[in-house]
Amino acid sequence: MSLNHVRPWRNIYRRKSRQIMVGGVAVGGDAPIAVQTMTNTLTTDVAATVAQVQAAAEAGADIVRVSVPDETSSKALKEIVRESPVPIVADIHFHYRRGIEAAEAGAACLRINPGNIGDEKRVKEVIKAARDHNCSIRIGVNAGSLEKHLLEKYGEPCPEAMVESGLEHIRILQDNDFHEFKISVKASDVFLSAAAYQGIAEATDAPIHLGITEAGGLVSGTIKSAIGLGNLLWMGIGDTIRVSLSADPVEEVKVGYEILKSLGLRHRGVNIISCPSCARQGFDVIKTVEALEQRLEHIKTPMSLSIIGCVVNGPGEALMTDVGFTGGGAGSGMVYLAGKASHKMSNDQMIDHIVEEVEKKAAELDAAQEAAE
Ligand code: SF4
Repeated sequence: MSLNHVRPWRNIYRRKSRQIMVGGVAVGGDAPIAVQTMTNTLTTDVAATVAQVQAAAEAGADIVRVSVPDETSSKALKEIVRESPVPIVADIHFHYRRGIEAAEAGAACLRINPGNIGDEKRVKEVIKAARDHNCSIRIGVNAGSLEKHLLEKYGEPCPEAMVESGLEHIRILQDNDFHEFKISVKASDVFLSAAAYQGIAEATDAPIHLGITEAGGLVSGTIKSAIGLGNLLWMGIGDTIRVSLSADPVEEVKVGYEILKSLGLRHRGVNIISCPSCARQGFDVIKTVEALEQRLEHIKTPMSLSIIGCVVNGPGEALMTDVGFTGGGAGSGMVYLAGKASHKMSNDQMIDHIVEEVEKKAAELDAAQEAAE
């Protein structure tokens, strides 16, 4: 239950954007902030790509992007779209034919910069294909590939140049009466990205796709993204996010969700609150949390679980969570249900028991949700 009305310091006021559709997923307006990732298999390897899309969707991805570098990939895309449980965005660079092929293949969105695909006739053909196939467009400005005339004008990639680039691409779509687009202005530098995003957020009402590009490996990329995207989301900017990591796309989805969960913007699965542990712990907190994270991966119901080593913070944290366990003495601890101390449990049976309690609570919450609908 949200208690934001009594805790106004938790409120985030989302920027008002237009809503567009990416396949069946609404992006912008008051739609939930969508989590995206991108496959890193060869698109021509349909089986491997579909497997990766499915794994990402299972982890919670709302939308998945797939690269379409050549004609064979366009053909493979058709099969991938057919097998995918979520809308597919086709990543196109420069080649207008790929854009047309991808729209025809059933892509829900094209990631393409209309200013980079050639003369007006080509631009019109791509926009027509998108329109004819209910395909939206993401303009993807990237600090690393800014147009030459903007680099000459500004001297280096800077927020103003990125915003201007974005607005130039937007103008081309608008001149063609095409409005089903969203926009990103990514950079690998957190400051540059954040400033560019703030600029574009003021300059357009288009939905915004957030990302820090080439953020790095699992740990460093997660931190960069949490700082960059976290700040923007906190300001109310962002309608869909992708965390770019040199890691499995499933990790990108997990990190994306964790960022949204931390800000109370989206909830999915069990939010585990656990202490770092110290000499006071009544059981092995770190090993227990590792085991529970794995054993509870299948739970999609938004709920909270506190796993706290001792009574210093245990009862206080348990007060705010659906299920809790606090270490005690003599090889056992206290189980908390809905914030209240419920019963004792021995440490050696506690993991199985907590999994059962969480599953029970998830089923209860699901039933209550269904009854309310
Ligand atoms: S809750 Fe207890 S065990 Fe956990 S870090 Fe704090 S004092 Fe240590």
